[in-house]
Amino acid sequence: MRIARFVHDDTLGFGTVELAEDRGEHPDTISVLNGDPLVQPVQYTGERFLLDDVRLVAPVIPRSKVVAIGRNYAAHAAEFAHDVPETPMMFLKPNTSVIGPGEPIVYPTQTQAVDHEAELAIVIGRICKDVPAERVGEVIFGYTAANDVSARDLQSADGQWGRAKGFDTFCPLGPWIVTHLGVAEASDLGIRATVTRDGATIERQSSTTANMVHGIADLVSFVSSVMTLLPGDVILTGTPEGVGRIEPGDTVTIEIEGIGALANPVTPAQG
Ligand code: MG
Repeated sequence: MRIARFVHDDTLGFGTVELAEDRGEHPDTISVLNGDPLVQPVQYTGERFLLDDVRLVAPVIPRSKVVAIGRNYAAHAAEFAHDVPETPMMFLKPNTSVIGPGEPIVYPTQTQAVDHEAELAIVIGRICKDVPAERVGEVIFGYTAANDVSARDLQSADGQWGRAKGFDTFCPLGPWIVTHLGVAEASDLGIRATVTRDGATIERQSSTTANMVHGIADLVSFVSSVMTLLPGDVILTGTPEGVGRIEPGDTVTIEIEGIGALANPVTPAQG
């Protein structure tokens, strides 16, 4: 299933997305659920909308944390002349950095060098700690696409990454959470980033999640050995090579095979 959060008539709802490509001639639709499936058992209400008639928002707002992994693709580590860390390199992004599809990434006044980073995001479904790698599938709710937006100049200047990766709007997630992929399937998906500027779309990143240094099972197991994971927590799994600048006026799109495309415009800070 594809679990989405959406707004319709000023009301926030949850639903499952059915795409026309799955079913032939029908339009894309969303079937409404009576609550948040990350929080409670849910049922269909019987209501269904055209996907075009709702506004998708971030499929999850983590109540506690977004955990992110740095330098987890060898070719990306190499483009900054870094070695691949033997132990996964963890950092945190605040939940206030999360935005949904179509919402603007606001370019802060404190930086002159903002990069996109296409990443596979893991959404945790159960409270868990010290999960063995072979049981990680039991605690994963699903997968979505993420953009680990990064102020590269501040990342270098600060020596740690809290500010550079923690600005409001610096964690686009979406367009929905895919729950039907197993760990093995999610471990070999195409992942791309494109930037549209002045009407021209250029591919910046193109790789596969198979190129992760530390795979999904090892990452979730490792992170859960450090901190308790809660339902709705999100783990960003690192970005492949090809990261690059975004500027106000651009639209950046992260696309993951079998999941979907997450597009966000970039806007200047107000005032
Ligand atoms: Mg990253």
